[in-house]
Amino acid sequence: MFDILKKTLETGSQTTKYPQIPDIAPAGFRGKPELLSEKCTFCGKCTTACPPGVIWLAEGDGEKILTLSYCGCIFCGRCEEVCPEGAIKLSGEYELASKTKEDLLTSIRRKT
Ligand code: SF4
Ligand code: SF4
Repeated sequence: MFDILKKTLETGSQTTKYPQIPDIAPAGFRGKPELLSEKCTFCGKCTTACPPGVIWLAEGDGEKILTLSYCGCIFCGRCEEVCPEGAIKLSGEYELASKTKEDLLTSIRRKT
């Protein structure tokens, strides 16, 4: 018993204060993909490469809209790999809890 207590005191705390203090994801972590509207050309390559099909391109009312749903995303990174413009980047963001599917949609748009 004393040995365990001694070892614990020597080791120190191994847990973090998350969620009170944000826990930074390690380098290379594949979190929430982010769309960069200033770089996107709306070519649609990411839409065909996405295995679960959670990115889609729509056109209407004089604009093109690229939408990504985090609901169903498997964080594989294929969209980032195939994008010729570097317009999708997987971030270190992992907090994706939501009460509705609509809250898990993100879109960028451009006038045609
Ligand atoms: S994010 Fe990249 S691959 Fe997807 S439509 Fe935009 S430019 Fe094309
Ligand atoms: S990370 Fe994978 S599953 Fe998620 S949007 Fe990109 S290609 Fe689709």
